[in-house]
This record gives sequence, structure tokens and C-alpha cells, in this order.
Amino acid sequence: MNAALTTGGTMDATSVSPAVLLADHLKALKLPTFAREYDKVAAIAAQDRADYPRYLLRLCELERIDRERRIVERRIRQAKFPQVKSLDTLDFTAQPSLNKALVLELARGDWLIRRSNVVALGPSGTGKTHLALALGLAACQKGHSVAFVTAAALVHELMEARDERRLRKLQQHLASVKLLIIDELGYVPFTAVGAELLFEILSQRYERASTLITSNLPFDEWTSVFGSERLTGALLDRLTHHVNILEMNGDSYRLAASAKRQKQSNAKQEAGMT
Ligand code: ADP
Ligand code: MG
Repeated sequence: MNAALTTGGTMDATSVSPAVLLADHLKALKLPTFAREYDKVAAIAAQDRADYPRYLLRLCELERIDRERRIVERRIRQAKFPQVKSLDTLDFTAQPSLNKALVLELARGDWLIRRSNVVALGPSGTGKTHLALALGLAACQKGHSVAFVTAAALVHELMEARDERRLRKLQQHLASVKLLIIDELGYVPFTAVGAELLFEILSQRYERASTLITSNLPFDEWTSVFGSERLTGALLDRLTHHVNILEMNGDSYRLAASAKRQKQSNAKQEAGMT
């Protein structure tokens, strides 16, 4: 502990330089941007002949901008996205069936305030995960908590929590996030218990918080994943009560990209041969 610190944890103002005291106070007040910038901003303020309130105002603005950025970064980490992807890199011309206007509206985040859902449907490679990641990122930037998980991993986690008697806690956590993204529903069928546990999560979130699901299966084939027709009906009923459906029925972006690369390399080879 710093010798200049008194028993109360504050510094002895008589023996320590103001810069050290200030650093200590700003740390205690959790104002890291103040601590980092006050000197630089002071020099600029002196140049501009800015008065004290203006000087303080600039520091406050910097601190708030930085704080917002740190909070968004924390939200992104907590969302556990497998990758960070945004709408900027989503090529809408490659997927003409995708409703661009609706996607852009969803990125504004009002659907999260209305607690409605999104379902993205389409075959493999059509950009469903990319879109889910991009809408998840936009939600983080708009101030909402997000959790990203694949359907198989979620069911696995729920089963594990149940076996370890901490299901209630996990359910409470999953119910508390503003946006739950469940990716890849449809590739792996669930056991009866798994289907029931996933149904419970969606029931608990119904009209309380938004869920985004991506699936390679149209709704009428969801019974093949959940097993029970009754359960699937009840689940779809809740999920689709307030829902925006994004259909992506075009070609696989992966296939198109590799076909394009193949064509280019063939053309190069041919050019090299002549
Ligand atoms: P899906 O989840 O539907 O199987 P992905 O989202 O994983 O498809 O897309 C496969 C790959 O192609 C990813 O790398 C993704 O970023 C890219 N991709 C898909 N669609 C587009 C698109 N319209 N514009 C840009 N990249 C895309
Ligand atoms: Mg995917």
C-alpha cells in the first residue's frame, strides 16, 4: 500500500503531488478517460482559450464516449458470438430473396423493445448465421444484452444443468437476456427431454424478451426436430405470435464463392496454356 495513503484509504494531501492525488481520485471514481486525457485536453483548452466549464465539458464528453464503447465491447464479449460479423459485409445482391428493408429496420432494434421475434429460414450457406450475428451485434450496439448459442449446444447445456441441479439458474439467466439467438435449429433432432427443455425456454421468453432463431427447415418440418407434434404446435404458436420472418431461398454463398474461385483459376490456367 502506498505510504502516502491514510488509514481511510484517501491520500495525505500535504505530502503527495496533485498529479498523484488526482490519479488516485479518478481511479476511485472510475474515470479512466479523465485520468488519461486531462493533461492533453488542458493544453488544447488553453490554446482555444476555453474556460473551466468548457474544459470540464470536453473531459465529460470523452469519458462518456469511452464508457459507452467499453460497455458495448463488454456486451459483445458476453454475447459469445463465434465470430463478429456485421451488416456492412452482408451482400444483399447475393441473396435477392432476403427482405433488405426489413433487415435494416430490424438492425435499428425496435423489435427488441416490442419483444417480438425473428426467424431466419433458408438452406445451408445462405447467410443465416451471418445475418444473426449482424443483428446480434446491432442489438449490442443499441444497448441490449445478447446471448448467441446453437440449438444443439443450448439443449446440451440445459440437459447438463438439469443433471447438475442448476437448471433453474440457467433458465433465469436465459430468460434475462434481451435477445437470445438460437442458431442452426434443424440439423440435430432433440431427445424428448431436450425438446421439452428448449420449449420451456421459449415459453419463459414469450412476450418478455426477443428470440432470433435460424433454421434450414420450413416450419412444417419442425416436428422432425422436436419429435412431438403437440409440443411443436405450442412452440410455433408462441414463437410466431409476434414474429418477423426472413426467408433466404437463394443459392449457397459458400458454393457460389467457391464456384467463382474455381472459374477464375480455370480461366487463369487456360490463359497460361495459350
Ligand atoms: P448459413 O448459416 O445460412 O449456413 P452462413 O451465414 O454461415 O450461412 O454463410 C456462409 C458463409 O458465407 C459465411 O462466411 C458468410 O459470412 C458468407 N455469406 C453468406 N451470405 C452472404 C452474403 N449475402 N454476403 C456476404 N457473405 C455472405
Ligand atoms: Mg449457419
